[in-house]
Amino acid sequence: MNRRCFFWAGALGLALSLLFAANGLAAQYKALIVTGQNGHNWQETTPVLKQLLEETGLFTVDVAQSPAKGEDMSGFRPSFQDYNLVVLNYQGDAWPEETKAAFVKYVKDGGGVLVYHFACAAFPDWPEYNEIIGLGGWGGRNENWGPYVRWRDGRAVFDNSPGRAGGHGPMQPFQIVIRHPEHPITQGLPEKFMHVPDELYGWLRGPAKNLTVLATAFAPADKGGSDEHEPLLFTVRYGKGRVFFNGLGHTAKELKSVAFIVTYQRGAEWAASGKVTQPVPEDFPTADEAKVRE
Ligand code: ZN
Repeated sequence: MNRRCFFWAGALGLALSLLFAANGLAAQYKALIVTGQNGHNWQETTPVLKQLLEETGLFTVDVAQSPAKGEDMSGFRPSFQDYNLVVLNYQGDAWPEETKAAFVKYVKDGGGVLVYHFACAAFPDWPEYNEIIGLGGWGGRNENWGPYVRWRDGRAVFDNSPGRAGGHGPMQPFQIVIRHPEHPITQGLPEKFMHVPDELYGWLRGPAKNLTVLATAFAPADKGGSDEHEPLLFTVRYGKGRVFFNGLGHTAKELKSVAFIVTYQRGAEWAASGKVTQPVPEDFPTADEAKVRE
């Protein structure tokens, strides 16, 4: 290596370390994505979920990957307490009792949780998990798990009628309607905005304690829906913990929707900190036009 080359290599190294130092300063929160089993393609969505958190500049992100389905889970013990945010992209075998207890303690003590899409189907027989996620679906859940939460006459109401928990019609584009515009996650977003064709989750049910509906989407019966305004973005207060549910995003393709990206990033910051500092981006969807980022 000649001298000039040496100089430029040194300059590049310095620039890179300054860049990383700047990133380190900006990243205020530590996030952990928990995955490794899911009826959905977690291998495909996890890197996207990670990148979307990192691009806010607010998070450094680790991934806790469980053993595969059916394998020995006894060593799966993510250190939840080291993080400000736990993103759940997991639906599968039960965690060890110690891990379950550590997760409940993490949330109770003020941890942030983001429940992503099919994580609402995990752990039907774990009562604390059902309380933490507020509403769940599938896994044999029914009216014994709690009410449906419906948006009727301008407010959220419990519907205790018996029936299934969890379902959706074929992939369809839908409009999301903000029901709580003063919440940090939704503040400043337009009242109505379009999402790309995706599963429109419906019939979720659960304890729904301390649950605040942020946004709904109407699921028409002629497109396989409940004919109700389904809660797709909501928060749950569990102990001192903040929980945000985002029902959007079946595969990596739907994660390109700006409606998903922005609600995910804002919900993550709120769950981690209780506030949202991110501005609403200029490419935010409108009431009749979805937007995607390639
Ligand atoms: Zn799905």
